[in-house]
Amino acid sequence: MATSKNSSNGRKNSGKDGSGATIWATDPGDLLLVGPTFDLSSLDRAATPGWTGDDDAADAFRLQRGELLSEMQERLFAQARAGGGTRSVLLVVQGLDTAGKGGIIRHVAGLMDPQGLALRSFGAPTAEELRHHYLWRVRRSLPTPGKVGIFDRSHYEDVLVVRVNHLADVDWDKRFDEINRFEKQVVDGGTVIVKVALMVSREEQGLRLMERLDRPDKNWKFNPGDVDTRSKWDDYQAAYQVMLVNTSTHYAPWHVIPADNKWYARVAVTELLAQALASLELTWPTVPWQVEDQKRRLAATMDPATLVKAAESAATEAEEVHEETAAHADDVREVNELAAVDANGGASPEVAWGDDVAQEDTVAATAEGDQPASGGQPAPAAEAQSGGKGKKKDRKKGKSGKK
Ligand code: ATP
Repeated sequence: MATSKNSSNGRKNSGKDGSGATIWATDPGDLLLVGPTFDLSSLDRAATPGWTGDDDAADAFRLQRGELLSEMQERLFAQARAGGGTRSVLLVVQGLDTAGKGGIIRHVAGLMDPQGLALRSFGAPTAEELRHHYLWRVRRSLPTPGKVGIFDRSHYEDVLVVRVNHLADVDWDKRFDEINRFEKQVVDGGTVIVKVALMVSREEQGLRLMERLDRPDKNWKFNPGDVDTRSKWDDYQAAYQVMLVNTSTHYAPWHVIPADNKWYARVAVTELLAQALASLELTWPTVPWQVEDQKRRLAATMDPATLVKAAESAATEAEEVHEETAAHADDVREVNELAAVDANGGASPEVAWGDDVAQEDTVAATAEGDQPASGGQPAPAAEAQSGGKGKKKDRKKGKSGKK
């Protein structure tokens, strides 16, 4: 287990606001993590686990983390462009209507450069998608190296809406195994997966839906089908419960975010994303040519007065870059300390994971080829490879596949 780094007041010495005060009392990555004993019915959806500040402090802190997110995203992008980097990050956002998925995308993804983002929303499958295995459209939407991908809904709809509405005759345990194998393969390919389930209370959902009806500027967000979905509240909660405990793995864990307070959900997801990016320990790429050689070549094309100007600004920039690099390193250290990541790659807390999949038990990329979507059973090739069902190995302790 990782050693947490505590300050003299007993709190982890991280997550500071601009004044240096500690705002995250405890790592939200630990507090919100889904382990095998997770119980959705006891979740206080108005709670703000780990956060000691108010809503204004949360918004300010999120913006501050935004600077770090944006630099880490640029490094990720640069590594893929110029450093042969193969890493990427995928944020999977799930939640019922009004849970705040759109707000997360605006307020968290909005902190980053759109050029480095790959956003994909998953609605009801199209006719073409229905002709394929349900993971077909997901696989095609995965972030390429250097990108931060965001899924607004995801393959998890295929164990939620499909289950609640009996849209397919599916062996759910097999489907969970298949999803776990799929995600393992994605993680092994260099992608860090961050999965967040936003959970509003039934009361809050009612209020948010009513507001959409009361306000002409929000009418467009209302869908009459939302009331039908709401009438199946208990069924959805049950489907979420079983989905969460069966697909929270050490390499792609679920975090459940109490979402009655939008500001909390946003700052918590920002922190989880910052932790994922910080875990990559991204540096700027080194280039395959000699900087001094290229400088000499360029200088030969410039007049002496401009060269003097260039030398002056180089001196100032070198200082600024040095300061920014040091500040970045401090911020990354802070995020990692809060996440209590230890040198061995292990981390707190002591979570005995649910069903896990063996390393060799991966789904062949082509195995899903022609299987039908939501209605489809796991692809025969994938089943054959897994011996008909996911092979299990001993349950692990540890936190995530972030290292
Ligand atoms: P949202 O409710 O997410 O804001 P929206 O109302 O604009 O989105 P869409 O994005 O077009 O609607 O589609 C979302 C709907 O598609 C949700 O009701 C979701 O349950 C449904 N959906 C997503 N994936 C599937 C699936 N595999 N099978 C059936 N329905 C699905």
